[in-house]
Amino acid sequence: MAKQPSWRTAAYAALIYGGVALVFTAWGTVLGPPAAQIGGTRPEGTIPGHLAELAAFGLLLGLGCMLIYGGKGLPLVFLTPVLTVLLDVDHLPAYLGFAEPIRPAHSLLFVIVVLAVTAVTIKALDIELVMLSAFMGHMAVDTGLFAPFSPISYWYTQLGPYRVPSATGAILCAVAAGVALRRQEVVVGNGGLEHSA
Ligand SMILES: [Zn+2]
Repeated sequence: MAKQPSWRTAAYAALIYGGVALVFTAWGTVLGPPAAQIGGTRPEGTIPGHLAELAAFGLLLGLGCMLIYGGKGLPLVFLTPVLTVLLDVDHLPAYLGFAEPIRPAHSLLFVIVVLAVTAVTIKALDIELVMLSAFMGHMAVDTGLFAPFSPISYWYTQLGPYRVPSATGAILCAVAAGVALRRQEVVVGNGGLEHSA
């Protein structure tokens, strides 16, 4: 049965996303090879500005979703910037003064695990598309090094060449999330007609 996005579902989605990011962070910090433990934080004064940039792009993506769907997509409008910012929870050990890899959750494997967990728990295509959009939106705003296959490999490469494709993918997924919501509404609507016939 198709469901409208609820605030509760959005909260579950944020818990899954943040929880998996923390697992990747703990894994990298505890089990990552010492040579990979070179992650740090940006200069303290620039952190609020960077987080604001992430939130602003996430909010734009969320609004793109709502423009197609209307007011009922409101939980997703809020969920998108929350997830976009939440990925940076993987800087926590460095922020607290511990050695850790660079951006352990900024990884393709992270997004695969998040989508797999969501597919068996929340089971909502629109939420999965919002997660993908928020992840790619984050990668579009970030600069510097990341490990695309963390925690299996801490091979670091520059984000630069991936930023424009990530931004494009983020926008397409936000729009697709809106389309997925509208299709759910049609399915629910048809079901209602059958019952009343
Ligand atoms: Zn980041």
